[in-house]
Amino acid sequence: MEANPSLLDTVGVGDLVLLDPLSEESLLQNLKERFQHREIYTYIGNVVISVNPYQPLPIYCPQTVEQYRNCNFFALKPHIYAIADDAYRSLRDRDKDQCILITGESGAGKTEASKQVMSYVAAVCSKGEEVNQVKEQLLQSNPVLEAFGNAKTIRNDNSSRFGKYMDVEFDFKGQPLGGIISNWELTLERDCSRYGYLGREDPRLPGMDDAANFRAVQVRALLEVAAVVLKLGNVQLGSQFQASGIESCSIQETRAVREIGDLIGLPESALEKALCSRTVEAKREKVVTGLSVAQGCYGRDALAKNIYNRLFNWLVNRINASIKVDSSERRKVMGVLDIYGFEIFQHNSFEQFVINYCNEKLQQVFILMTLKEEQEEYVREGIQWTPVDFFDNSIICSLIEDSQAGILAMLDEECLRPGVVTEETFLAKLNQVCASHKHYESRATQNARHVTDASLAGPCFRVHHYAGKVTYNVTGFVEKNNDLLFRDLSQAMWKARHELLRSLFPEGDPQKASLRRPPTAGSQFKASIATLMKNLYSKNPNYIRCIKPNETKEAGVFTAGLVQIQVRYLGLLENVRVRRAGYAYRQSYEPCLERYKMLCKQTWPQWKGGARDGVQALLTDLRIPPAELAYGRTKIFIRTPRTLFDLEDRRRQR
Ligand code: ADP
Ligand code: MG
Repeated sequence: MEANPSLLDTVGVGDLVLLDPLSEESLLQNLKERFQHREIYTYIGNVVISVNPYQPLPIYCPQTVEQYRNCNFFALKPHIYAIADDAYRSLRDRDKDQCILITGESGAGKTEASKQVMSYVAAVCSKGEEVNQVKEQLLQSNPVLEAFGNAKTIRNDNSSRFGKYMDVEFDFKGQPLGGIISNWELTLERDCSRYGYLGREDPRLPGMDDAANFRAVQVRALLEVAAVVLKLGNVQLGSQFQASGIESCSIQETRAVREIGDLIGLPESALEKALCSRTVEAKREKVVTGLSVAQGCYGRDALAKNIYNRLFNWLVNRINASIKVDSSERRKVMGVLDIYGFEIFQHNSFEQFVINYCNEKLQQVFILMTLKEEQEEYVREGIQWTPVDFFDNSIICSLIEDSQAGILAMLDEECLRPGVVTEETFLAKLNQVCASHKHYESRATQNARHVTDASLAGPCFRVHHYAGKVTYNVTGFVEKNNDLLFRDLSQAMWKARHELLRSLFPEGDPQKASLRRPPTAGSQFKASIATLMKNLYSKNPNYIRCIKPNETKEAGVFTAGLVQIQVRYLGLLENVRVRRAGYAYRQSYEPCLERYKMLCKQTWPQWKGGARDGVQALLTDLRIPPAELAYGRTKIFIRTPRTLFDLEDRRRQR
């Protein structure tokens, strides 16, 4: 993809690399102006920025698909279809695996964007029944996953609670074969109280007249397991005094436990025991100890979360099994990643910490891949490459993920340390190890530097992310990182007669139970990010950056302050800078000659020779300073936007 003449004929500039002068202010102003003219898409080179219109726009019809498909690219306005088309064609023609990364905060339009990309790709490559089937299944799986994976949050009525990664596989002719969705979910649920504790009645099983068939049985099993999650929320734990005088927890009201037991085929007493006590192995001897009410509640909630997450994974796998086509032939892949954006709230906890870590990593891929791509294009075009000065955030990434001195590693160390582990000891450790790190700050490091900052009061540390400074409160870090399911509970689940539920807890099999401690939430998260990064580096990335224009979901309202924050979080200014560090503008010779040939006697009305020579004759005749230009193999490169606007002015004056 490259800047094209139509980008100059739009409201403001259609490509931010053409902004002149370039500043945060002009960037915002340009987005605003376009948004107010219902131009929600703007490029930065081959990156698409999308500002949520919060109203249906007539730009997704089959005619639009046709336009972008038969890609008269140079005549078209910025559109998400253009990036989808570009990705699809480079997959088909250049045999390169693609990845579409969609980022932005909740409500910015990520899920809509991923659907638009999928529908576009489905539309342009569909031929015949089978292909349509795959497409239908992929598109249809979305509502199923959404119904299950979403919850209503304050920020978005239909917010994805998980990062979702979807691979669509293509054969060599560019037709989709099947797809794989990975539930790339945070190991932590953001607010577990939301599901088990919905306070609603048992879900009624829908009337199923074909109850005899296998599918219905599966649906029923799924609903039953989901019902267990809800019912767990009704299990009240209270305290009682044992004969020994020790206080421990007990079931206050037996109805919910009885109902769960009936539903999953497990004696009520077994469930009660698993919920209220814990078996610890000490010197080859098993000791059963009662749990405190707090521990009991923690175990119950962990069980609910685990059942829910595992059921969701099971569902994802079922969907994958239905859309995956089996073949050993090497395929091309297009991945679509829809993921949480950077989060800075008033109070930031472990969840924000891991989400922001993920975004820090995504930013790293983003910058490196953009630079790499620029560099590759220069090499392809035979143009001198000048190194670009950019902010390398790997120093922040390692502050978080370094295997020795990283924040996550120190948290793990604290969690695994025998003895009393508290958030204070964790924070003290951080303060000691990270004291001199440029991107780390806390009360202690401030004291050492004789600075005080009221916002750092309490058990907090602050990370200077690429997108801004975020203060994290360590309360809950240890517990959330240790988010474990007591073995008694997984063993109880494994003993249930309910086939599906049982299959979700394979580790409950006492034969297989190992004493090894399961990995912490933080290390699981770090591992899945590493996998994701590897996956991304192996593909050709295409970026869609989504922006939420206002907090009230209103059409036509552009709250500049809100957009400004997102522009920073997304690192857009840096992106424009990197993108035009060499040459702001590039274009294939033919369309360039077409557009400007009227400015020169030699080329008007018809140039007889090759397009490259034509452009050279034209620009020489116009006395464009040679330092402004570079002639590549297929494209002309122009260093500053000024020069281009100068050409445009002359053209308008004709
Ligand atoms: P996210 O996944 O980023 O949290 P969604 O994609 O769910 O956000 O978008 C939130 C809502 O905004 C959608 O339900 C829809 O009403 C609206 N929306 C998003 N993108 C568009 C669009 N391109 N055109 C019209 N409405 C949109
Ligand atoms: Mg979403």
